[in-house]
Amino acid sequence: MSLSGRRILLVITGGIAAYKSLTLIRRLRQAGAAVRCILTRGGANFVTPLAVQTLSGERVFMDTFSLTDEQEIGHITLVKECDLVVVAPATANILAKMATGLADDLASTALLATQAPILIAPAMNVRMWTHPATQANLATLQRRGIITVGPEEGALAEGETAMGRMSEPDTLLSAVESFFAAGPLSGRHVIVTSGPTHEPIDPVRYIGNRSSGKQGHAIAAALVRAGAQVTLVRGPVALPDPAGCDVVAVETAVQMRDAVLTALPADAVVCAAAVADWAVADPAAGKQKKDGAGPPALTLVENPDILATVSALASGRPALVVGFAAETSDLVAHAVAKRSRKGCDWILANDVAARPTFGADDNQITFITGQGVTEWPPLSKTAVAARLVDEMVAFFAG
Ligand code: C5P
Repeated sequence: MSLSGRRILLVITGGIAAYKSLTLIRRLRQAGAAVRCILTRGGANFVTPLAVQTLSGERVFMDTFSLTDEQEIGHITLVKECDLVVVAPATANILAKMATGLADDLASTALLATQAPILIAPAMNVRMWTHPATQANLATLQRRGIITVGPEEGALAEGETAMGRMSEPDTLLSAVESFFAAGPLSGRHVIVTSGPTHEPIDPVRYIGNRSSGKQGHAIAAALVRAGAQVTLVRGPVALPDPAGCDVVAVETAVQMRDAVLTALPADAVVCAAAVADWAVADPAAGKQKKDGAGPPALTLVENPDILATVSALASGRPALVVGFAAETSDLVAHAVAKRSRKGCDWILANDVAARPTFGADDNQITFITGQGVTEWPPLSKTAVAARLVDEMVAFFAG
């Protein structure tokens, strides 16, 4: 399977198995992945930075406060620009730091800062492995969803044969491949819009709305879990970016439209953003003053309709275009009309008068397609996202 386009951040910590990580870098790159490496001080006792750098084809990252590293690429960028973090070998020490949230070097800081999924390949002496402290740390990490591969039984560096060997590079490569291949939407590119847009009045004021981005972000996360390549075009929200997405942060509707069109082609577009319908025609260059002349008159212009624009694309229209409809009366009639007016395939309609939706954790959806209207039960926004993704999987399965 190809790992083309996948970005792996490989953290090499200080164990003798680090020599196998050099082969792992090669295997990952041969499979098409881009590999960046963090080498801990301990790791550098076993393999040289030059070897890691040469094999990865990228500079090797070693110090949190290295001026050159931070100038060229900060540790936050380092962890953002990856789809999966692999810790191989993972020593008892790094597992303990990860479990407790210690951040006293670049590797542990990156592991605390990342929102990407993490795969660990533990390698250590059998007594360290079976120690209740290590096992408790491992259990904590697994509860957090961290994927563990190995260790395996075999000859250890100390000469004994026992549990503690790091899995072989090919086994780790297979685990990485199956991580990316696991989802039914793997190979599909989906663009999701989420959050509100802010339309500036002047440099300090804007017209906005109450959208939290919770629903759109949950959909992006569910699509990543289903293996899709996800571009999340999001307005200003207080939520963290979901792991594993390519995130484009925008402010205005025009920027959101441009970002969506730039991210095409896609197999599907899900427009979950609450895009402002109007923008201020001529935002003031400086902050408008209360100068006694009374409130300023705002002239508004209509914003582009992103959902309608994508639905109407003459060439390169995504196979599936999904929109939302927040209605306050005659839910089904309005949403069915909206579906044909916008030209999209599916509409997830909700009655925002019947229950608080903006910022809430739950949602009640009426699902409208060309085949008909289905009422979903009240669900958490995460469950709505999962159900929508199930529908998308069925759609693409034909
Ligand atoms: O027209 P209305 O705002 O009710 O339509 C809601 C749907 O259209 C949502 O899916 C929303 O993301 C999308 N939309 C859009 N661009 C706009 C307005 C709405 O993509 N300018």
